[in-house]
Amino acid sequence: MEDIILLKHGEIVLKGLNKRIFEDKFMANVRRRLRGLGDFRVYTVQSTTYVEPQSDDCDMDAALEAMKTVFGAVAISRAAACEKDKDAIFETAKRYLGAELKKAKSFKVETKRSDKSFPMTSIAVSQYVGGLLADSFPECRVDVHNPELTVNIEVRDFAAYVHGVPIEGAGGMPVGSNGSAVSLLSGGIDSPVSTYMMAKRGVHIIPVHFFSFPYTSELAKEKVITLAKLVAPYCGRMTLEIVPFTKIQEEIRDKCPEEYFTIIMRRFMTRISEKIALSNGASAIVTGESLGQVASQTMQAMAVTEECVSLPVIRPLVCLDKAEIVKLARKIGTFDTSILPYEDCCTVFTPRHPRTKPQIDEVLEVEKALDVGGLVDEAVMNIERVVISK
Ligand code: ATP
Ligand code: MG
Repeated sequence: MEDIILLKHGEIVLKGLNKRIFEDKFMANVRRRLRGLGDFRVYTVQSTTYVEPQSDDCDMDAALEAMKTVFGAVAISRAAACEKDKDAIFETAKRYLGAELKKAKSFKVETKRSDKSFPMTSIAVSQYVGGLLADSFPECRVDVHNPELTVNIEVRDFAAYVHGVPIEGAGGMPVGSNGSAVSLLSGGIDSPVSTYMMAKRGVHIIPVHFFSFPYTSELAKEKVITLAKLVAPYCGRMTLEIVPFTKIQEEIRDKCPEEYFTIIMRRFMTRISEKIALSNGASAIVTGESLGQVASQTMQAMAVTEECVSLPVIRPLVCLDKAEIVKLARKIGTFDTSILPYEDCCTVFTPRHPRTKPQIDEVLEVEKALDVGGLVDEAVMNIERVVISK
């Protein structure tokens, strides 16, 4: 019996003439995630991608697990393929889902038939297979309204498939199908989540971290590398750009009034991010800001932060509560690392009374004390790059 994985496409199905491009991207990402797990054949028919093991040593459990992080699929099923014949379908269901049918108190059979030339209707297949299964597993009664177990049958072009309840896919769009963006990755809870959310919309991510050694330690840098690795199953291969930020922060501390430290520092982050974006063909800057969370995340502060660039600054978390962000951080597995207690450069030289409603003309005046262009260029020249692969 052949065991395969079916991946049901989400929004890709809404695409028109360019659907193929999205499907190809999705399949490339699926193949990338299967690397090292065995020899698989990956192909797409009718908005479903099939993952077929080509040899006995394929790690199907690991493959199923890996598929949960590939954006583009809304449902994942492990299924058994069989001949398109009503008795073969029944035999397969009995064997493949026998253990579940023995355990469950009730079941129903649900059939989908995309091969309209198949001689039985969906309902007739369900009734036929359901009847035989009910005879074979008398402890498990038929309940079409609220069954504990649903036996899914699909009659498709090349074969019929039997599978249990599908598990949830990662949703979203295939990474790489919607351009690239730079994502500001601190060591906190929020930015790994915003990075994940942007990747979910099909965006290839270039993570950027601002590093203020010795104010922030090597451990803080390691933490960010770990966070990047944790989101890599979703985002794919990325190059983390680590920007030396110490000199800029010291210059701001020495030459600007304290209440402006944070906002001016954030403007530097935005400018440098834009440079990195433009040199990598990326079209946006992503941050983990959430409206009103801290002084630098008021609408006025956001406006001043992005005034110095022309690329859009996208804030996927802007309307989420902290509790919602934490929930997502736990779901994607970054929370426990994010709460490790290492300093972020934002907490170095934090003003006692930051301006919550900074005015752009005041900020521009204060910045005159700094060699903005020179500092930006110097930081960009000294970037350290770490390849993050999954
Ligand atoms: P996080 O939990 O992501 O650190 P935060 O609530 O601590 O966010 P801030 O420190 O104000 O908020 O940072 C807001 C956003 O700015 C972060 O989500 C991140 O996108 C970016 N950011 C902050 N510090 C850094 C840094 N050292 N390197 C890269 N990006 C940063
Ligand atoms: Mg932070």
